[in-house]
Amino acid sequence: SLLEHPALRRLLEVFNDDVEETRIVGGAVRNALLGRPVTEVDCTTTMLPEAIVERAKAAGFKAVPTGIEHGTITVIVAGEPYEITTLREDVETDGRHAVVHFGRDFVLDAMRRDFTINALSLGLDGRLYDYTDGVADLAARRVRFIGDARTRIREDYLRIMRFFRFHAEYAQTDLDPEGLAASGAERQGLAILSKERIRHELLRLLVARRAEDTIRILADHGFLTWLLGGAAEFGRLSRVAAYDTEDPVPVWRLAALAVMVEEDAERLRELLRLSNDEHKKLVAYADLLGRLKTWALPLDAAAVRRLAADHQVETLAVVLAATTGEPFPIVHADAREALDRFRSGTEPVPVFPLRGADLVEGGIPKGPKIGELLARARQAWLAEGCRTDEVYAQDLLRRVLEQA
Ligand code: ATP
Repeated sequence: SLLEHPALRRLLEVFNDDVEETRIVGGAVRNALLGRPVTEVDCTTTMLPEAIVERAKAAGFKAVPTGIEHGTITVIVAGEPYEITTLREDVETDGRHAVVHFGRDFVLDAMRRDFTINALSLGLDGRLYDYTDGVADLAARRVRFIGDARTRIREDYLRIMRFFRFHAEYAQTDLDPEGLAASGAERQGLAILSKERIRHELLRLLVARRAEDTIRILADHGFLTWLLGGAAEFGRLSRVAAYDTEDPVPVWRLAALAVMVEEDAERLRELLRLSNDEHKKLVAYADLLGRLKTWALPLDAAAVRRLAADHQVETLAVVLAATTGEPFPIVHADAREALDRFRSGTEPVPVFPLRGADLVEGGIPKGPKIGELLARARQAWLAEGCRTDEVYAQDLLRRVLEQA
């Protein structure tokens, strides 16, 4: 159990006495009860933020005021961070941010949380506190709002996204009908949220255990077109979900679901505030998808080698997983084997053998010309099979110098 963890126990011992009470709360309690991995531990306390800092320091722990205006202090014990937050009560909200007051009441703190399974708390003595029937819902694997779903959504519209995300991660039942109806009725409220907050929940949903059915429900109820700004490919999402179960990458799932052509990548970057790296992955996916459709020959080991040299091994693996069973691409068995070798690292990815310095040594003056020549040589190298032996490298260099 959580309380057997020495650092966490020590933390709770320091923050509990005759006057003050501190408990583990939220996701850590939920996941521990389910036997799922606990990645972060949040605590909630009767102590005020300044007092938390003081007591942490007196006990020799490092205390970082990560969100002092919200009452959150990160306390580091034996190198591990724990977030300790002063008990809160909601006062009012504009649908995005709640105005909270510090309190000393664990029941009110539980009532302001989103779902029953997220409102459990655990005391130092091992007592489990359940003010919202969270244990029963956890046992039934059911995600339900605390209180009236529609009212709770109006306090914070992000809860619509969280409802679907937590369902996809934890539920084994159908989606709670009350929560679904309330989400549908309040759907327009999503528009006032920041794209970053929506992005965070949507990308987590995409890699959740029940991503496919939940995304399907989002589509059936008119959320998905709004979230993605365009069409979805459910078949491709299902295939990628079946293939990358071990270590799913959210942006690849997004690619499988919503990228057909490069414009989709542009739109999603804007809609979901994707990073440059995520955007690059989507563009590479769209590009390869388009190219594979036009390649006349079945994909063979040499083509895989070229893609590997072009840093496209992961892209290829995802595109192939996403499109298996579609009329393209036709892939030779040796191409599959080559792909596996590159992905597992048994075959090293070919590295382009020329550098700027080689050209300078050959008499080309330093300057932008070098980059242009290298880029052209790289194209030739890719087309000629990405050889890395010395004889080929010398020959390639000779040709580049002749052209210059
Ligand atoms: P995960 O492990 O998936 O992150 P978590 O439960 O820790 O799950 P967080 O988003 O980190 O999820 O939130 C921590 C806790 O804070 C939740 O368990 C919930 O009790 C509360 N919470 C977070 N966001 C909201 C919200 N928008 N409305 C109400 N309560 C919330």
